[in-house]
Amino acid sequence: MGILQQFYNDNFSPVGDIVVVAMCFVMLILVYTSYVNKTKTFLYFNIIIGLLLMAAITDIGYHYQLSGITSSEGHFTVYLLRILYYFALTASLFMYVIYIADVQRLELSKKKPIILIAMIVLAVVVVFDILGIVRETGFHINDDGTVTNGKSIFPIGYIVFVGIIIYMMVVFRNRIFKQVMRGFYGTMLVSFIIISVQQFSKQSSFTVATFLFPTVAMLYIIHSNPYNIELGAINVSAMEDMLRYYYEKSKTLIIMSLYIKEFDEEGKNIPPAIQAVIRRFASEFFKGAVLFQVNNGHMILLADKALNPDYEERIAKMFVDFEVEYQQHKLDYKIVYGESIDEISRNSEYIAFIRHIHRGMKFNEKHRIDMGDVALFNKYEYILKELADIYRGGNLRDPRVLAYCQPVFNVKTGRYDTAEALMRIKLPETGLVFPDQFIPLAEENGYIHTLTKIILQKTCDEIRYLLQEGYEVNRISVNVSVLELRDEGFCDDIFKIIAESGIPSEKIAIEITESQSEKDFEVMKAKIDVLKEKGIKFYLDDFGTGYSNMERIMELPFDIIKFDRSLVLASNNDTKSEKMVDGLANMFADMNYSVLYEGVEDDNDEKRCINMSASYLQGFKYSRPIPIMDLKNFFSKVKETA
Ligand code: C2E
Ligand code: CA
Ligand code: CA
Repeated sequence: MGILQQFYNDNFSPVGDIVVVAMCFVMLILVYTSYVNKTKTFLYFNIIIGLLLMAAITDIGYHYQLSGITSSEGHFTVYLLRILYYFALTASLFMYVIYIADVQRLELSKKKPIILIAMIVLAVVVVFDILGIVRETGFHINDDGTVTNGKSIFPIGYIVFVGIIIYMMVVFRNRIFKQVMRGFYGTMLVSFIIISVQQFSKQSSFTVATFLFPTVAMLYIIHSNPYNIELGAINVSAMEDMLRYYYEKSKTLIIMSLYIKEFDEEGKNIPPAIQAVIRRFASEFFKGAVLFQVNNGHMILLADKALNPDYEERIAKMFVDFEVEYQQHKLDYKIVYGESIDEISRNSEYIAFIRHIHRGMKFNEKHRIDMGDVALFNKYEYILKELADIYRGGNLRDPRVLAYCQPVFNVKTGRYDTAEALMRIKLPETGLVFPDQFIPLAEENGYIHTLTKIILQKTCDEIRYLLQEGYEVNRISVNVSVLELRDEGFCDDIFKIIAESGIPSEKIAIEITESQSEKDFEVMKAKIDVLKEKGIKFYLDDFGTGYSNMERIMELPFDIIKFDRSLVLASNNDTKSEKMVDGLANMFADMNYSVLYEGVEDDNDEKRCINMSASYLQGFKYSRPIPIMDLKNFFSKVKETA
């Protein structure tokens, strides 16, 4: 019988089981007081703990009862406890199988036969155990109180289950990240050693305890450690810790960051084939590398430079392999890589830093981190800080926000009577900052609406001044981001500023770009309707830069369609393109929209645009954007033109 003999040894002390009971409670406390994803896996984990508790308690009870037996009385409890004990142990093995299948995310076709076999084994063990007692071929208490162990099926069941588990762990080993697997292997090894030691010392006190060890691995690796078991990635807070730790030890890390646009969405899962590729890249190229998942589409791999002195070659190899994968999957990516930089590590700012680098990158590029990035990042951080300050200050005449203006040429009258307000910010450390450097930042951080209000305020102030001075001002348009329209208070905010300035609302126009989303469209339409009612005009900005949905454009009551400079340029390429732009402009003009061409740079542009149904022209040919105070140099006095 060899190793199987252990289950019949009567050298029993309850200490092993008592420790198991205590440990089960400790785990339950830990699990319920810390954050745990309440997944199905977690439910299985709880069932296993419950079964082990049951096994330990029935084991203690069984031995206690057994030792008290002197006559033929009280046997029923002993039998019952014994049956329950073996049932709990076998069922916990069964649950291990279920648990592992779940963690490995096995497809139904692979999972089904395994679970079926496991169920049969469980049923056979339980039925045999009970039958053995009933038919007195198995465990039996004799009339004089002595015990006959008889034949037991449990050791065979045990071996079959261990066989199934080893089979799963070997055949599907690639389903789980290597490090996680090692955790399981390690604890299983400990179980095996204890079972063997127990066997040699003719003991049976620690049987349940050995079943407990793998659950410690589960608790630690899967239910408390923020490992993503499919990717092998760790939660990002651990990354900041690691970077700070290396910084404090003055050690350098190699950073490999991969961003995949396709997956960068809440709730979007990375398909298993790509997961496998990521797992491979994370473990194959660098010694001791750790993978972190920043969000669905962004992963960062860190490795100790000292462990990988030849890392340049490793990176080169990695990129060669990466190209092969890229050719196969064709997912748009951005790769940022290089060594850790103290200035960024000090405040653990890598995520913001890398995101900033992404902003300046095209897709499918690989960018090596350098000190230039750090300088730009610092500037960006500074701008962000100032924007936050402007936002918090809420001063609608904040001197850091400047209203520039570009006069617009009215083709019919041959004069300038409208203009577009364009934002700049002026900061002590950077001087004048242009929109491409701060508008996206302001949008991402929710500051844009405050900036718009400031520009609107300054525009209203200037219009009032120009009107007082007797200038002919038809209107000035202000740019508004689509994001702002989602804000409930948008219409009130805009109208309040205009009303308090005391200028007629027809003097203000709002420029918006088309939005791709259906939801935005509805919101946009509602807001436009409200403000149009008050007399505010609306321009469709940047027509021709995206995919336009004509049907939707027609549904919105725009006054002016602004043709983007790209259309002005296209019309100069060939007659076909010119015909297309001309056709579009004609169509809009026929439907009583005014067409404005943007980016008119020279006489040639002007001539073409005038021939293509232009009502308004805007561009460097007439003026670059100028401070709003200089606008009066372009506008005419009403009395002079009367
Ligand atoms: P946009 O609304 O399309 O503004 C026109 C941009 O074209 C301006 O750039 C202007 O300087 C530039 N431009 C004007 N004439 C010509 C020309 O003849 N040739 C060329 N190549 N470009 C010309 P700017 O001022 O740098 O603004 C860039 C973008 O920033 C604007 O594009 C707009 O989307 C955004 N922006 C500017 N001010 C504001 C604002 O107050 N609020 C919001 N939400 N966005 C703004
Ligand atoms: Ca505009
Ligand atoms: Ca535009």
